[in-house]
Amino acid sequence: MADYIYTMEIRLTPDQLKGVGLVQDVARAAGMNLYLTGGAIRDIISGFSIRDLDFTVQGNPLKLQKDFEKAGARITAVEEDIRTIFLALPGNARAEVSMARTERFEKTGKPPIVMPATIHEDLRRRDFTVNAMALSLNEGSRGLLLDPFNGVADLETKLIRILHNYSFLEDPSRLIRATRFAARFHWPLEERTQARYDAAKEGKYIDHILRSSIGHEIAALAHEDDPLNVVKMLEKEGWLEILHPHWTSAKVDTNGITALMKTRQQMVDLGHLPDAGPAVMYFLTSHFSDKDVADIQKMIPRKDLVEAWRDIEDHAKELAKRLMGKEAATPSRTWQLLSSARPEMVLFLAVTAKQQSVEQKIKNYLTKWRQVQQKIPLPEMTELLITPQLPEYPKIAHDVFMLLLDGKLRSRTETLKFLKPFAPPPPPPPPAPRRGRQPKAAAQAAAANPAGAQPAKPGPKGKKGKAAAVAVVASAPATPAVAAKVDPKAKAPEKAKPAAKPAKAAPKPEHKPAKKAPAKGAKKKK
Ligand code: ATP
Ligand code: MG
Repeated sequence: MADYIYTMEIRLTPDQLKGVGLVQDVARAAGMNLYLTGGAIRDIISGFSIRDLDFTVQGNPLKLQKDFEKAGARITAVEEDIRTIFLALPGNARAEVSMARTERFEKTGKPPIVMPATIHEDLRRRDFTVNAMALSLNEGSRGLLLDPFNGVADLETKLIRILHNYSFLEDPSRLIRATRFAARFHWPLEERTQARYDAAKEGKYIDHILRSSIGHEIAALAHEDDPLNVVKMLEKEGWLEILHPHWTSAKVDTNGITALMKTRQQMVDLGHLPDAGPAVMYFLTSHFSDKDVADIQKMIPRKDLVEAWRDIEDHAKELAKRLMGKEAATPSRTWQLLSSARPEMVLFLAVTAKQQSVEQKIKNYLTKWRQVQQKIPLPEMTELLITPQLPEYPKIAHDVFMLLLDGKLRSRTETLKFLKPFAPPPPPPPPAPRRGRQPKAAAQAAAANPAGAQPAKPGPKGKKGKAAAVAVVASAPATPAVAAKVDPKAKAPEKAKPAAKPAKAAPKPEHKPAKKAPAKGAKKKK
């Protein structure tokens, strides 16, 4: 049987994984059964990027709002009627927690009658088989996948299939969803689903779409990896004008959105995870009137998305102003300013900056200045025992990087001259050999090679060591105090952690007879 918990753990981002833990703790404390559901499961299994975490609890999640806030999540929207809360989890993860429910559609175009239900019943009200799976996060059944409609099989054959013949009639927003998923994944609709889809289109079921569903579908565009393609498909199918009567692909700033997605990918490759959602909405609606934009924003349930979208230009202007001022007078200061700015703003400004100097600075930050890291003399630093094991390593590495950026260390010799004073004193010689038993030759060898007992042995060509060292440099801010404020996604604190452990452990062998270490290891192996 597939180990879905393991798959979940390796597929989620660190922030998402922490988010799962947070939601799990809150649900467990409240005694509610919790499941990861919907698109999150689909994407975990199929390997696509996971946009948001959809949780379902057996119980009313509206009662958990305070607990979620206490645990560090922000509530960004609440939908009372379907008892769903939307969360911004610490870091950069979004989630929604819904009550397991049944939906009874009594009248076309009217919201369904919602009743609390079990997870099994809940899965039956879902849109497509690939979205109708749940992963138990409960003690006793943790890791169990509920897949009553064989969604895994449809994932394997890459098919979008409704659960029953009335699906599009009951909720016509599923027509838009079907198109969106087909555009995103490049999967076809299953044959009968396609027939029902065509009939629904013909019968103009879409006229009965609920306003709340329109808001959801608009917001969903913000998080598409290729929003332009999705918008074009929606337009072709006649759904874009349902989202807003004036919406056509002519309202989209095509160049802007193309540049945005390209820069976003570049930032992701560098380890940043900017939430492009607000900027995507900005470009998708660039040629709309202010009133139309305001109308669209009113329909979106997630307040955080709307606020960030509304403020995006002002925030970008502020950052541009700072980038033109004294604060960014040198490359090192610019680096620090941009490292501490929200990656969303760096992304947006990278594609909208009007001033050439601002544009150039961001470009340098994302490309040229990263190459300066190659000038850091890592092998020599290792020889000087300036390694990530040293607690002060991040600061030293950062300072060297800043000086190199500013051209203040013009040669390797100058760099080494700067570094030498930071070299820790060589380790003390090993204790004198015990009298009698130890063979003379071994004792002499130990005396000749005092570093032999050091775990932080210089290894100039060790690739791993080099990678780790560069990683610390890349994101290390000027001081630890700054580190806390800087880019929340900056890897410095996380990456520095594993380095800190060996530092503590390092002195141990110094105080022990060299003989004992291998004996310990040998025992463990057995
Ligand atoms: P995305 O990757 O865009 O988040 P998703 O499938 O997770 O895709 P959400 O809007 O996050 O979509 O909804 C979460 C889940 O809720 C869906 O996977 C589906 O199971 C269910 N759902 C959402 N909208 C509908 C709908 N209109 N009808 C039935 N089920 C729905
Ligand atoms: Mg989702």
